[in-house]
Amino acid sequence: ALVNGVWVSSTKNTTASATESAVDDSWHEVVNPATQAVIGRVPQLTEAQMEDCISAAEAAFYQWREVPAKQRCATLARWHAAIVADRERLARILTLEQGKPLAEALGEIDYAASYIQWYAQPAVLERSAVLPYGDTPTSMLVVSEPIGVCAAITPWNFPAAMITRKVAPALAAGCSMIVKPAPDTPFTALALAELALEAGIPAGVLNVVTGEAEVIGGTLTRSAKVRKLSFTGSTGVGRYLAAACAPTLKRLSLELGGNAPFIVCEDADVDAAVQGALDSKFRNAGQTCVCANAFYVHDSVYEAFADKLVARVKKLQLGRGDEAEVNIGPLINEAALTKVEQLVADAVAQGATVRCGGARWAEQAQWFVPTVLTEATQDMRCVKEEIFGPVAPLVRYSDEAGLLASLRQQEAGLAAYFYSQQLGRIQRLSRQLEVGMVGVNTGLISDAAVPFGGVKASGMGREGGQQGIEEYLETKYIKLSQ
Ligand code: ADP
Repeated sequence: ALVNGVWVSSTKNTTASATESAVDDSWHEVVNPATQAVIGRVPQLTEAQMEDCISAAEAAFYQWREVPAKQRCATLARWHAAIVADRERLARILTLEQGKPLAEALGEIDYAASYIQWYAQPAVLERSAVLPYGDTPTSMLVVSEPIGVCAAITPWNFPAAMITRKVAPALAAGCSMIVKPAPDTPFTALALAELALEAGIPAGVLNVVTGEAEVIGGTLTRSAKVRKLSFTGSTGVGRYLAAACAPTLKRLSLELGGNAPFIVCEDADVDAAVQGALDSKFRNAGQTCVCANAFYVHDSVYEAFADKLVARVKKLQLGRGDEAEVNIGPLINEAALTKVEQLVADAVAQGATVRCGGARWAEQAQWFVPTVLTEATQDMRCVKEEIFGPVAPLVRYSDEAGLLASLRQQEAGLAAYFYSQQLGRIQRLSRQLEVGMVGVNTGLISDAAVPFGGVKASGMGREGGQQGIEEYLETKYIKLSQ
């Protein structure tokens, strides 16, 4: 782990009696989801080590905030260049611990780097104002200041991008940061941090800590020195962390589960919708929070869309992420696979038809064969819950207003997609879908320059774009008089 510019292991079992015990719980083993081979181990930091890390991050913050913004941004630009130069190695590490195809891993490294590039632009920090309301000779200034020590807790599905889109705006704003990556994918985070050190990001400004979620999360959320938590992960853990941050009233950004509807309207370009469906559903084997979850297809185009989608889905190649031509890697772990199996079984029991896939890949352990289910309904678990796997349930609809009303009942509100050629319908649906992001005639919406985030149970706050920097800034009003 990286604490205050130093690579550390755990101080957990340093007494003689503990070292003699059979199980050394001071390390956590990381497994390649494609082979189940242990690829390395990371230390389980103790509470005392976490307290030291928080103190170091606090000291580093007071120095870093005084570094001129242009210089902070120049340091970020060097980090960006280092990542771009090392993208092949980083992508290989990412695929090894996460499982996604190498081409997608390369795409993620570029995407992760693009957040650093975006926040390396000093203009993103131009926020301050002089208000014209004071009597001469007073001046009323409104300035933005960095919040302080920030914590980030990130998931395994995007081991690089979920980190840079929190760290880059925090560091540009002048905050210091403590990152807890997911236990399944810590090495991408550590490799990024190594490049950050080499690029000149000072000791303590960026720390990457590994260990048990309760220990790391507990010390970060309890500490009054930590002024902000940015979390990406499940809605349940997000709620828990928000409650844990209440006593110290931390600022929160929460990017939680989604359940994105993908609507194929009666006037859709069906071929384009099929391509959008593949982009949105099967990227990362369906393990992204903005993945289309269920498809709502108008009765008049239902059969055409289903046939064309099935034909394309059957061609997707399964395999290890580091093999050539692979489109679908393994799911992250056995629990993920079991959940997908259960959702498909529930759908079939309730009358859905498996048009392709429908089961785990016989030859290998942790793959689920890309699946299309027709005659799905909104009562099925795979429609109500986030699938997080390569399964596309197709729900038939004919009444647009009824569909929108039912979608508004969903707890989640992250992303939505629809395909339509009619301006009136496009405007209507764009306005009426209760989500943070809408893709119209596209299945790919993410970009460093735009605000990413959700409404309702999908969380609060935005990452990326002009809005992303606000999450790490406080507003101060200063009245100047003679
Ligand atoms: P997923 O279901 O995608 O694994 P989680 O919400 O469980 O999503 O995990 C996202 C991140 O939250 C991971 O880094 C995980 O270790 C962390 N996490 C899970 N539980 C806790 C907790 N109680 N305290 C702090 N972090 C946690």
